[in-house]
Amino acid sequence: MAALRVVLLGLPGAGKGTQARRLAEQYGIVHISTGEMLRDPAGAAASVGPQARASIDAGELLGDQVVIDLVAERLARDDVIQRGFVLDGFPRTLAQADALAELLAPDGLDVAVQLEVPLELVLDRLAGRRSASGAASRRDDAEAVVVRRLARHEDEVGRVAGWFAERGMLVAVDGAGQVEAVTERIRLAVDAARREQAEAAD
Ligand code: AMP
Repeated sequence: MAALRVVLLGLPGAGKGTQARRLAEQYGIVHISTGEMLRDPAGAAASVGPQARASIDAGELLGDQVVIDLVAERLARDDVIQRGFVLDGFPRTLAQADALAELLAPDGLDVAVQLEVPLELVLDRLAGRRSASGAASRRDDAEAVVVRRLARHEDEVGRVAGWFAERGMLVAVDGAGQVEAVTERIRLAVDAARREQAEAAD
């Protein structure tokens, strides 16, 4: 079977990063987190300018082209081509979704999984992340920024999820509960999507 290609969508605090790492490990695919790449001092963080760094610290989205170029470069590497990937934090805009479709043509994506978590739970988790990580490690997690990010993210995720839904690629998964149980739900959704594709291709 061809390499597995998954996009994971969800609000910050929905457990996207945790689940993406677990999926990468369990399926042997590559975890691609644009946020991690952009924060990595030895990676993309070194090549983006001070203006982009300020945007990242403020929790504001970077320009589409910067992030699209970053993802395009990563998707073209051998490990991703051979093993497949789970994308975490991309696409965040319709322009990014269009660009991803072009980058993945002709094979396309297997499935986009939207992790659904009640807003109160997301706020609790983000509050926990702030107190656990200390003030300096994630400056974009400062209180006011979190609330602003969350409102913006709800719109973003809604639009991007709509883009995938229109193309029959979206599956919603309940993101509340034990980490292991959520991973299992995602795996069921991913495996079902792959089976459907294999049947359609026969
Ligand atoms: P994240 O860890 O995914 O929340 O990303 C941290 C920050 O990196 C975001 O607040 C943005 O400044 C930037 N970033 C990450 N992914 C994207 C993206 N797909 N489009 C634009 N900016 C992004």
